Amino acid sequence: MADSGRVIVTMGPRGAFELREHPLPKLEQGTALLRTEMCGICGTDVHYWAGYRPTIPIRFPGIMGHEIVGTVVEQNGGYLTDALGRPIKPGDRIVPAPLVTCGACYWCQIAREPVKCLNGKAYGHLGDGYPYHTGGYGQYLYLCLPGTTVFRTDLPPEVAVFLEPISIAVTAVDKVRVNPGETVVVQGTGNIGLLCLAVAREAGASRVIAVGGPAARLELARRFGADVLIDIGQISDPQQRIEMVRAHTPGGHGADVVIEAAGVPAAVPEGIDFLRYGGRFCEVGHFADAGTVPINPSTHLCAKCITLVGAWSSLPDSFARGLNILEAAKYPFGDMVTHRLPLERTGEAFHALSSDYMLDGREIIKAVIAPWE
Ligand SMILES: [Zn+2]
Ligand SMILES: [Zn+2]
Repeated sequence: MADSGRVIVTMGPRGAFELREHPLPKLEQGTALLRTEMCGICGTDVHYWAGYRPTIPIRFPGIMGHEIVGTVVEQNGGYLTDALGRPIKPGDRIVPAPLVTCGACYWCQIAREPVKCLNGKAYGHLGDGYPYHTGGYGQYLYLCLPGTTVFRTDLPPEVAVFLEPISIAVTAVDKVRVNPGETVVVQGTGNIGLLCLAVAREAGASRVIAVGGPAARLELARRFGADVLIDIGQISDPQQRIEMVRAHTPGGHGADVVIEAAGVPAAVPEGIDFLRYGGRFCEVGHFADAGTVPINPSTHLCAKCITLVGAWSSLPDSFARGLNILEAAKYPFGDMVTHRLPLERTGEAFHALSSDYMLDGREIIKAVIAPWE
C-alpha cells in the first residue's frame, strides 16, 4: 500500500486550491481507509468557497468534497458492514453519508432534526491537519469520524456519486409529500432539480412539469421523467409560464405540488402561483442566502391555503431510499456528469461554477473530480 496520497487544499474563501501530498494515517481501531474514485462538486461546496458559512463549521485551509465514492483499502475493525447490514470487505465500493451526528443533543434527541446537530461533523469540513485525508478532493478518505454511515454499492462511480444529491431530492419530496396521481412542478433543471423530477415520479406523481433551461438541460429533464418542459429562456414572461403550467393541470386549477430547486428568489412567488388552492410548496434550492423576495401573505398564502415547507440537508434514511432509486436504473443518472476532472483542475471547476458554468467550451451540469486521473 502507498504511504501517502495527494489532496487539494482550499486555502480559504475565494482562496487558491493547492495540490499537496500528505502521509496516510495509521488506522485507529474502528476506522477504515477508502481509495477515492470520484467526488462530486456540489453547489454547496462552491457557496462555502464563496464565503457562505454553514451550520456545520468548515475549516480553512481544508480538504473539501462530500459527495464521495471510494473502494475500501483497509479496515481496522471498522465498517465491516454497511448501514443496511451488508458485509463490507476490502475492494468493495462505498458511499459514506458525509454528515455524522452525535445522537445525544437537543436536535438529535428532542427536536428529532439531527441535521442541526450541535456536535455535527462532516467530511469535507475538517481542515487540512492530521489525519489529513478527510475530504473528497483527494486520493484517499479516512473514515475517522465514529458512527459514519456508509452504503455499499456496485453502481459505477459516475452513478454512485449522485447518492448524496439524490438524498436531498428524497428529503424534499418527503417534506412536501407527493401523493399518487398528483401533478408536480419542479423549478430548476440543475442536478438537484433533475433528481427531484425522478424522485417525484417515483413517489407517484402522474404528471411532472419541469420549468428551467437551457435546451440541453430540458432534454435531460425529459429523460428524468418530465412530461412537460417549459424553457424559461424562451418563455421569459412569468405570467405566461404560470398560464402554461396551469393549462397542464387537471381542470386548469394549478399543480398539487411545486418544488423550487433553482435557488432564485423570484422563483418562489411564481412557484406559488403555479399551485392550486390547498397545494404544497417545497423550497430546497436556497441552501445559501440568495436574497429576499416579496410575497403577499393574503393572496399567496391565506387565500390559497397553501402549505409552505423548507428542506435542508439529508439523513441516512434518505440515502437508503435514494440508493434504491439509483440502483433501479430507470433514469440516466450518469449522463448528468458533463465534466470529469483530475485533482489539479478543482479550482478551475469552482471558478466556472461561480460564474457562467462554462468549462472546456461547454456548460457544466455536474462536474466530478476523479483523483487518480
Ligand atoms: Zn452535495
Ligand atoms: Zn446531536
